[in-house]
Amino acid sequence: MQTVIKELKTMQPGPALVKASGWVRTKRDSKNVCFIEVNDGTCLKGLQVVADKAVFDNNLLNSISTGCSVECEGQIVASEGGDQAVELKATSIEVIGDAPADYPLQKKRHTLEYLRDIAHLRARTNTIGAVARVRSKMAFAVHKFFQENDFYYVNTPLITASDCEGAGQLFQVTTLDLANPPRLEDGRIDYSKDFFGKHTSLTVSGQLEGETYATALRNIYTFGPTFRAENSNTKRHLAEFWMVEPEMSFCTLEGDMEIAESFLKYVFKYVLEECDEDMEFFSKFIEPGVKDTIVHVVETPFAHMTYTEAVKELEKHGDKFEFKPFWGCDLQTEHERFLTEEVCHRPVIVTDYPKEIKSFYMKLNDDGKTVRAMDVLAPRLGEIIGGSEREYRYDVLKARMAELGLREEDYWWYLDLRKYGTVPHSGFGLGFERAVQYVTGMQNIRDVIPYPRAAKQADF
Ligand code: ATP
Ligand code: MG
Repeated sequence: MQTVIKELKTMQPGPALVKASGWVRTKRDSKNVCFIEVNDGTCLKGLQVVADKAVFDNNLLNSISTGCSVECEGQIVASEGGDQAVELKATSIEVIGDAPADYPLQKKRHTLEYLRDIAHLRARTNTIGAVARVRSKMAFAVHKFFQENDFYYVNTPLITASDCEGAGQLFQVTTLDLANPPRLEDGRIDYSKDFFGKHTSLTVSGQLEGETYATALRNIYTFGPTFRAENSNTKRHLAEFWMVEPEMSFCTLEGDMEIAESFLKYVFKYVLEECDEDMEFFSKFIEPGVKDTIVHVVETPFAHMTYTEAVKELEKHGDKFEFKPFWGCDLQTEHERFLTEEVCHRPVIVTDYPKEIKSFYMKLNDDGKTVRAMDVLAPRLGEIIGGSEREYRYDVLKARMAELGLREEDYWWYLDLRKYGTVPHSGFGLGFERAVQYVTGMQNIRDVIPYPRAAKQADF
């Protein structure tokens, strides 16, 4: 394999000829030489290639422009400029693909909105390139954390027939002719004629299937795409996003919270170690001080409070909110941010929410009113993790389902887990893009995934 620019930049000066290939970011002329910054995306700052005007043909040098791809050969030498330790003194330069003057990424700074319209080219910019590198390292750290801690990676289905939660948010999967679907006598659509012989949709979470494997392999995690027809246009919701969902047997809410905290810290620490240049960049140009914030998060224990305590705290400052908080309300982003930014000054785990605003499978507390749920709230973003201890008592779960009008025959396999060898178990879901947003300081979730899918947006 050819040496990538990230490696070339760390090489010692020497007489050996090395090759450097990449895309030209900038070209600058001085009297006798031409400085070309060549970047191949393996790191933020490219390699400075120096071409002696006495050696190279003028036409060749003139043909090198921002965006063109080049292959250069030369020696690594100590750089006289202050910005870099070494540079490449070119002995040959070949332009592989030129980039005419209409190349959309000229040297000036572009807005992130503009870059979304040219998402096929935007990874060539400093910002989106840095996001892509950090995202990749974070994905690796996710696997590394779980694999090092005896978790098995499970792939849960993306197409599902269990309309469990958030029915309003489901994307239907069908091969029926929408103009003329088969109908039952009463006029409803006859899904028995559909591809799967029943109504199906894209999954909103792999949790229920994940639980079946956790009650066989003990500790498992999923890491894959998830789909929600989110209609609201926010900076933290996508219609297609990646979720990390660990599930642990013989584990109560306390263990769940402990794992969530050490998992987040592990991933953040890994980024600090592996992506220093990119983190410096985000701290300087995207979110001032974000690197220090992440260092602080890694070093400080998360705060804890119950939902009831949280609401009391919020009620003290009721006038600050658009949506007035009260016991029983679903916490809004403004509430979540207030708790973590103004009350705790660090990530906070809120537990024991009213059962009415949480899912049917969460373990009921003895008060009969709240469930063993926990959300991890982070400054700037609000919720980044949602999790719970699951209801593992067969009778209690059945009663809860009946209360909510859920049909047992739709969940027969899920109930079986409580019938055969049931065990306390817990898990959580991390929105992977929210974690990337948090680490990089990027404001809009659409800029931390290569091709965002959101309402009225499915380009590329
Ligand atoms: P929110 O209140 O922010 O909509 P939620 O309660 O619907 O979140 P969960 O169902 O608990 O979220 O999902 C687990 C995690 O997945 C969330 O903590 C969040 O990080 C992430 N998440 C949820 N919905 C989205 C989305 N539409 N786009 C990106 N990430 C999401
Ligand atoms: Mg939601």
